[in-house]
Amino acid sequence: MASQAQDLPPREAMDYDVVIVGAGPAGLAAAIRLKQLSPETSVVVIEKGSEAGAHILSGAVIDPIGLDRLLPGWRERDDRPVTTQVHEDQFLLLTERSGFRIPNFLMPRLMNNHGNFIGSLGNLVRFLAREAEALGVEIYPGFAGVEVLYGEKGEVLGVATGDMGVDRDGELKDSYTRGMELRGKYTLFAEGARGSLSKQLIANFGLARNSEPQKFGLGFKELWRIKKEKYREGLVQHSFGWPLTSDTGGGSFLYHFEGDLVAVGFVVHLNYSNPTLSPFDEFQRFKTHPLVAPTLEGGERLSYGARALTEGGWQSVPKLTFPGGALIGCAAGFMNVPRIKGSHNAVLSGMLAAEHIGKALSDGRAHDEIASYDAAWRASDIGRDLKPVRNVKPLWSKFGTYLGAPLYGLDMWTNELFGVSFFGTMKHGKPDHECLKPLSQVRPIIYPKLSSKLVFDKLSSVFVSNTNHEEDQPIHLRLADPEIPIRQNLPLFGEPARLYCPAGVYEVVYADEEAKSGPRFVINAQNCVHCKTCDIKDPAQNITWVPPEGGGGPNYPNM
Ligand SMILES: Cc1cc2nc3c(=O)[nH]c(=O)nc-3n(C[C@H](O)[C@H](O)[C@H](O)COP(=O)(O)OP(=O)(O)OC[C@H]3O[C@@H](n4cnc5c(N)ncnc54)[C@H](O)[C@@H]3O)c2cc1C
Ligand code: SF4
Repeated sequence: MASQAQDLPPREAMDYDVVIVGAGPAGLAAAIRLKQLSPETSVVVIEKGSEAGAHILSGAVIDPIGLDRLLPGWRERDDRPVTTQVHEDQFLLLTERSGFRIPNFLMPRLMNNHGNFIGSLGNLVRFLAREAEALGVEIYPGFAGVEVLYGEKGEVLGVATGDMGVDRDGELKDSYTRGMELRGKYTLFAEGARGSLSKQLIANFGLARNSEPQKFGLGFKELWRIKKEKYREGLVQHSFGWPLTSDTGGGSFLYHFEGDLVAVGFVVHLNYSNPTLSPFDEFQRFKTHPLVAPTLEGGERLSYGARALTEGGWQSVPKLTFPGGALIGCAAGFMNVPRIKGSHNAVLSGMLAAEHIGKALSDGRAHDEIASYDAAWRASDIGRDLKPVRNVKPLWSKFGTYLGAPLYGLDMWTNELFGVSFFGTMKHGKPDHECLKPLSQVRPIIYPKLSSKLVFDKLSSVFVSNTNHEEDQPIHLRLADPEIPIRQNLPLFGEPARLYCPAGVYEVVYADEEAKSGPRFVINAQNCVHCKTCDIKDPAQNITWVPPEGGGGPNYPNM
C-alpha cells in the first residue's frame, strides 16, 4: 500500500471538443444538440451516478417545450419516456384537519399544467442518454468530476475525475486507480442544484457578484403504487399551508401517472428560521392529512429520495460564462419556483449553450468566453419563463404564506396581463444559511410519534433509495473545523444537521456516563443521498459536500 503523501502517478488525459459534467437533462440536451449541429464534434459526458438517471430525483410534471425542440417527433415514438398527459389541475390550501380548493380561474395561466406530461425524470434522462450515445456522445457513468483543470491564464481546460481505491484515512489501497483528465476546448457544468464544481467556479470567477444570493428548497419524493380505484390518470394536485406554518415556505405535490403510480412530494424552503424544524418529519406528517392519506392508504411505497432545488430564479442567476466554459441547467439556477419546474429550462439552457459553443467551435475558437450565451438567456424562453415569477419567492419569504400567496398571485397576474410588476424586481436578502434563529429565540417544534402506516423513519427510507457507497473511503462531507458542530452549532442551534439531513447522516451521540466524555458529532456518510442540503444550510458554512467515489450514492430506479 502506498500513501497519499507520496507523489501520485500522473493522470492520463483525453482530449475532446466539449466536456460535460453531469448527465441530467441539461447536460444530455447540450450533448445531443452539439452532435445534431455537427456530428464531428467530440463530446464526453461524465456522471457520478452508477448510470445516467441513478441520481435524478424530480416530480415530475414536465413542460415539453424543451423536448419538442430537442427531439421533434418524440411524442410519436413507441419508446417515448413520458406517456401520461395532465388532465386535471388542483390547488389546495390545507388547514390542520381540512382544506379548500382554490378555483382554477384564480390561478395565473402560467400555473396551468394542461399540455404537460407526468413521468419519471430519471427515465427521461435514460432515454436522452440512449439518444446521445446513438449520436456518438461518450457517456461515462460512475465517474465524478472532482477538480476543475485550469490553464496558465486561468482559463478552464476541463475536469479531472476522482481517484478510486483510497481508504478512509487517505491511504492508497491495492485497488487504487488514478483519476483521468478530460480536457475540452469548452467544458459545460451541468451538475444540477448546488453543484460542487459549479460552486467553486462561481466563487473563483466571481460569477455571482452582480446577482442576488441563490436560494434553495429541499424536496422529498416518494413513489407509491396505489390501489386502482384511487388512481386518477393525469391528476396533478399541489398544496400549501399545513403542516408548515405561515413563516415557513413550501408545499406538496401528488401526481398520478402510468396506470397506478403516484409521485408524492414535499418541498421545504431552506430559508426556514426555526432550527428545530425537521423537513423530513413535515413531509411524513403531510401524508397523514385527511385530504391526502386516503389516496395512499392500501398502497405500497416503492421508493424514496430527496434533492435540493434552486429557488432564487431570475435575480439569482449568476453570470453563466467564464473562459473555457459555462453553467447550464439548475447549476445556473433556472428553476421556476411557483411552477416547481426546472427540467424544461435545463433542456433549453443545454441547447442554448450548445448552439453558442457549436458556433465558436466552427469559428476555430477554444478556451475563451462564450459571452453570447450569457447575453442570450434573458431574452430566450428561459427568461420569459422566469421573469414573470421573479417576485414569488421574495414575497413569500417576506410576508409568509397567508399574506404572501395573494400578493405573489396578484404579481403573477399583473406580469402576465400587463408585463409589469408593482414590486419591480425584489431582492432575496440573506442566503439560506444565515436564516436560522438561535434556539433561545424560537418555540421548539415537537413532532408527535405517528402510528400511521403511511409514515416511515429515515433509515427505512434510505433503504428504499438503494443508496450505496464504498464504506472504506474518505468521508465526502468535509468539515472545515471538526469542532464547530459540537462547540458552536449544538449550543446555538441544537446542531440542525441532525434534522435537516433527509438521510440521517448526521448524529450527535452522547457518550455513556462512565465514559465522562462530551457529545460527539457522527457522520454516517454511507447514507448520503447527495441532496446537498448540508452544504447549503449549515449555519457556519463548515460542511463542504464533495463527490465520493464515482458510482456511490442513491440508485433511484425511476424517480
Ligand atoms: C422534489 C423535486 C421536484 C421537482 N419537480 C419538478 C417537476 O415536476 N417538473 C420539473 O420540470 N422540474 C422539477 N424539479 C426540478 C428538476 O428536477 C430540475 O430542474 C432538473 O432536474 C435540473 O436538471 P439538471 O440537468 O440541471 O440537473 P440534475 O437533474 O440535478 O442533474 C445533474 C446530474 O449531474 C450529476 N452530477 C452532479 N455533479 C457531478 C459531478 N461533479 N461529476 C459527475 N456528475 C455530476 C448528477 O448526479 C446528476 O445526474 C423538481 C426538483 C425536485 C428536487
Ligand atoms: S449528508 Fe448532506 S448531502 Fe448527504 S443526504 Fe445529508 S444533507 Fe443531503
